[in-house]
Amino acid sequence: MIMSHMNGYVQEASGQAKSHGERAVDCPGDDSCLVKSPHCSAHMERMQHYQEELKKRREEDTRGKHDIDPNASLRLRKLSQNPKVGIDNPTFEGKEKAIKDTFHQDPVAELVELLQALKWAHHCLGDAQSQQDVELIMQLLAKEDFKNAYSIYIAVSQQMTRVIPTSPLTAQAEDLCQEVQKILLSSQHKEGLELTALLTNPHLQALMKAHDSVAGQEMAEEDLTQYIGESVKLVRLEKARDTPLGATVRNDMDSVLVSRVVKGGAAEKSGLLSEGDEILEINGISIRGKHVNEVHDLLQQMQGTLTFLLIPSSQIKPAPHRQTVMHVRAYFDYDPTDDPFVPCRELGLSFQKGDILHVISQDDTNWWQAYRDGDEDNQPLAGLVPGKSFQQQRETLKKTITDSSQEHQGRLWYAKKSKRPKKKSMSTLCRNIDYDDILTYEEMSLYHQPANRKRPIGLIGPPNSGHDELRRRLLSIEPEKFAVAVPHTTRNSRIHERNGREYHFVSRPAFETDLAGGKFIESGEYERNLYGTGTDSVRHVINSGRICLLCLHTKSLQVLRSSNLKPFVIFIAPPSQERLRTLLASDGKTPKPEDLKEVIEKAREMEQNFGHFFDATIVNMDPDQAFHELRRLIDKLDTEPQWVPTSWLC
Ligand code: 5GP
Repeated sequence: MIMSHMNGYVQEASGQAKSHGERAVDCPGDDSCLVKSPHCSAHMERMQHYQEELKKRREEDTRGKHDIDPNASLRLRKLSQNPKVGIDNPTFEGKEKAIKDTFHQDPVAELVELLQALKWAHHCLGDAQSQQDVELIMQLLAKEDFKNAYSIYIAVSQQMTRVIPTSPLTAQAEDLCQEVQKILLSSQHKEGLELTALLTNPHLQALMKAHDSVAGQEMAEEDLTQYIGESVKLVRLEKARDTPLGATVRNDMDSVLVSRVVKGGAAEKSGLLSEGDEILEINGISIRGKHVNEVHDLLQQMQGTLTFLLIPSSQIKPAPHRQTVMHVRAYFDYDPTDDPFVPCRELGLSFQKGDILHVISQDDTNWWQAYRDGDEDNQPLAGLVPGKSFQQQRETLKKTITDSSQEHQGRLWYAKKSKRPKKKSMSTLCRNIDYDDILTYEEMSLYHQPANRKRPIGLIGPPNSGHDELRRRLLSIEPEKFAVAVPHTTRNSRIHERNGREYHFVSRPAFETDLAGGKFIESGEYERNLYGTGTDSVRHVINSGRICLLCLHTKSLQVLRSSNLKPFVIFIAPPSQERLRTLLASDGKTPKPEDLKEVIEKAREMEQNFGHFFDATIVNMDPDQAFHELRRLIDKLDTEPQWVPTSWLC
């Protein structure tokens, strides 16, 4: 089956493939046994027929030039009847021979000789009319313009007889014309300007276009003849300078196969290249036997029209189905330059933990095709990212190796320290995070908060990063808009305290039951009393139409995400050590350099381990600026939808 994209036509009916299926494959080496592709043999027959026709025509032309039929003209007949002249006349034969001999010599000398012959004929002719006619011809031949035209004609004829093009030299005459025009742009020569005028002539340009169109077909027909016996496909793709082809190739013995077609590239847009197709030629350059790196280098240099000669993949292609885009948040950093497994490094897409990716193809479960959120407009080609299960396998393997080496080290450590009494620290009770879950990607959806149910704002950061101050400032400036959740405690209420205002005062068993039931976002013990923020308290604020402000511990993040409270988490990062020192000094604090270092180190750790849970980050360089940025982010939740885990919306 031959398919061609050229000029937007020719797409053989799929029924043609049947004949390919019936090919006799058990007669190797015997061409007569090969049932040729009907299309190929048709091309061959056409070409043979065309060449025979051409040969015949040329023979006829040549005969016409040299074999003068005296009966063809009345005057020549008269001439032949003249006793001084005759077709049997050896003198005439001698003349004819002289003309033949000089045909490939000097055209001017040839004309002189012709003139002499005419003079002689003029002398021989009896009637005045014939003499007048011959005089007219002699005048014409004597003209300078005629001599020039004749010289050109002879030169062209000689060229034509020397080079008989059986096939077009190029199908890119149009491109060549443009290239020449570019070169001529700076030329001030008379000839250069003249040539530019010629090349920019619309008629000549149309001629070149027509030429290329015909030449493309002729060349394709010719090229195909050497692959008779194969079912080949010819495709033409337009590759712009900055548009990548978007396909990968692999070697299979000495064959080069299309390995992957990436969304957004020229190959995918054309729909003409498929995975598994063998590339025989690109723009007439033979590809078989080349290493994929050579093919890569070759294609990198090419642009414009690319003509691929392919053996289509024998694999049955699944019916094209509409791909749905899946949006995910990545929970790991990925750098393809650092990944020995990525099938094509150039096509790998790097991303960072927390980035939103739009996955547009999961055809290959191991290597998805995706765009990074915000990149899709300026990055036409999708990139390869590890698929979820593939990445999970890799992470599991990594974890197993790390765990086994840590376990080994741990055993040694415990063996040495086993006699030491275990240090009792102030316990922070929190629901256990399931570390067995390997987070790779989480499916996300856009969510626009309703006006009457505002998302809680979780502020998080190391001590002294200023998140608590920011929360207090919001509460004091707009108490009708912001509120905090009333915590629970097991301690007794003080004289001025009212149940449900400062705290919800509950018994220890009641607290512990709720804690076990996962009803606290966070909790802790202080002087033998339990304290904690309950999800119901947060919900109470949400239902009141206000925005609940939470200052979070990292351990709260996972629990909060599993609740259905849809928090928006903002990380308040400290500035540089020097700036932090200045800020704390303005609050009357005098931290030691190691304290400052600790804040920054803690922030780095938090980002490293929990950064993927943060919806936004504010670097607290200046309290006023940070406050304005915080307000801007909070206001944005009213005006723009945000990415949230899809599971929150189910
Ligand atoms: P107080 O009993 O004096 O009100 O608070 C004692 C301690 O409990 C303070 O350090 C306070 O920060 C802490 N605390 C108050 N509410 C909560 C809470 O909801 N969760 C946690 N973990 N600690 C709290």
